[in-house]
Amino acid sequence: MKKNISRALLALTIAGAGVLSAVQPTVALAAVPAQQKTQVPGYYRMQLGGFEVTALYDGYVNIDNKLLKGINGKDAKVLLDKMFLDSTNGVQTAVNAYLINTGTNLVLVDSGAAKCFGPTLGGIQNNIRAAGYTPEQIDTVLLTHLHADHSCGINEQGKMVFPNAVVYASKADADYWLSPEIAAKAPEEAKGLFQMAQDSVAPYQAANHFKVYSPGDTLIAGVEVVPTPGHTPGHASYLFSAKGQELLIWGDIVHSHSIQFAQPEIAMEFDTDSKRAIETRKKLFADVAKKKLWIGGAHLPFPGLGHVAIDGKGYRWVPVEYSPVMVAAGK
Ligand SMILES: [Zn+2]
Repeated sequence: MKKNISRALLALTIAGAGVLSAVQPTVALAAVPAQQKTQVPGYYRMQLGGFEVTALYDGYVNIDNKLLKGINGKDAKVLLDKMFLDSTNGVQTAVNAYLINTGTNLVLVDSGAAKCFGPTLGGIQNNIRAAGYTPEQIDTVLLTHLHADHSCGINEQGKMVFPNAVVYASKADADYWLSPEIAAKAPEEAKGLFQMAQDSVAPYQAANHFKVYSPGDTLIAGVEVVPTPGHTPGHASYLFSAKGQELLIWGDIVHSHSIQFAQPEIAMEFDTDSKRAIETRKKLFADVAKKKLWIGGAHLPFPGLGHVAIDGKGYRWVPVEYSPVMVAAGK
């Protein structure tokens, strides 16, 4: 029976091919349209309990492998090869921010680099709009730290991009990056970072919209500050909790997903205190893997949402799978 059907199909196919080839010369083929050369908008939505989480893409930078400390080029290549990454021109590294609608607040965590780091970055404002919101609607901005790729996006030509928002940073980071005395003593190549941090927050300070907090302070409902120092003195992560589901937005705990999950002891040149950054990373990996927390990472491949899993002596990154937004994410 099956054989007969196959034969019948084959006969039909051959007949069809004959018809096609017979008419082909008289059919004018439509021109293939031009390639679109555009990408989907840079946002991704996830439901977390009653909260709506929107990952926002700012852009990317190519990070030179030599900025990783504690690993030689050969060992780094083995790990990069595993992820099909070529480091010839540096490794593409995303810059992400997160917009959380808690139902009570519209909260932006980090704000991208705006124009501080070149043309491959600065997409946050466009992607906020693409995601259905406006910068004016945001009432709270939580900065994980005061590096320019996180703070420059709050300022455009000296004006507040989020005029109705209170911008929060940790006191330890503000005391460091906003101090003219520390900036004056900094090495010449680091002075620009201090200047960019000071410029970013200046209009908010002038409008009394900039606030610093200390560990243990409550900022808004549903969010807990988790101090994660090392990368900068007051680097902080933010734990969002809704109906038993939790998401930790951890800023710069990882810069190189291909290397630092496997080897958390590898540091990054930009760390203010590498030793402390490594301790924080190791402790946090163990903790979030055990608790199976959702993670949002500023420099993980967009949307930077997923989980950390134990893998042998190290860890691995398990990214979120595309999901219709109406489906609530599991734990
Ligand atoms: Zn960063």
